[in-house]
Amino acid sequence: MLAIAPPGRDAGRVIGSNARAQAMSRTRYVIGNWKMNGTRQGAALLARAVATGVGARRAASPGVVLCPPATLLAAVAPELGAGRVALGAQDCHARPSGAFTGDVSAEMLAEAGCRYVIVGHSERRTLHGEDDAAVRAKAEAAHRAGLVAVVCVGESLAEREAGRTAEVLARQVDGSVPAGSGAGDTLVAYEPVWAIGTGRVATPAQVAEAHAGIRARLGARLSGGAGISLLYGGSVKPDNAAELLALADVDGALVGGASLDAAQFLAIVAASPG
Ligand code: PEP
Repeated sequence: MLAIAPPGRDAGRVIGSNARAQAMSRTRYVIGNWKMNGTRQGAALLARAVATGVGARRAASPGVVLCPPATLLAAVAPELGAGRVALGAQDCHARPSGAFTGDVSAEMLAEAGCRYVIVGHSERRTLHGEDDAAVRAKAEAAHRAGLVAVVCVGESLAEREAGRTAEVLARQVDGSVPAGSGAGDTLVAYEPVWAIGTGRVATPAQVAEAHAGIRARLGARLSGGAGISLLYGGSVKPDNAAELLALADVDGALVGGASLDAAQFLAIVAASPG
């Protein structure tokens, strides 16, 4: 079972000196998932606006990653301001090449300039029937290609209401994050399915509890697990970002809808503690 921190009055808020040192050593991220949106021209403009905004920020900015659709990677890559913003993709196939019509391999994404790839997003799990084994195979493919895998986990509303959140997250973390994963090649995004694209954001206490449990599970299972950065995703907007990003076990955000607007996305980047 997932070890969940006791939901005390300040769960996820009070952070002792050891925990603070560990948290400071984890890299912070704000990642934009554009999903199936954008045209070449609009994508280039959006990426340029984000790179310009990030460039104007202090050095302690979080790592900023944009994940456009595969067809727009080539349009976005030259707009990222000499490495100020990194390129990511939204999915990859587990195999390096072969007869997989419509799919894109991790190696192809690396050649296109990607450094990150999202795997196991709930829309892939739900709409494409991807289970934990399939997600793990994709994360392994990302590692094989030298990419950082952004492994998504999260419970459905029915699972939360049935009191099964901890059990579901434990199963997904164990099943989706490859053995040997560490801070250098893996991020984990907690994305409650009921909060994605719904405008319904998880409460700070819910996020803190889930992240503490995921952190404990990763730490117990993987030698480098406790150092893996944990992102929250699910209706993150400029007006809720600061509160969520200040939580002890939250190292960043995976942003869908608000990443399609440069001003909103940059406001979320600015809300990340330095
Ligand atoms: C997402 O798609 O990963 C996501 C978190 O979307 P949104 O921010 O729109 O809820």
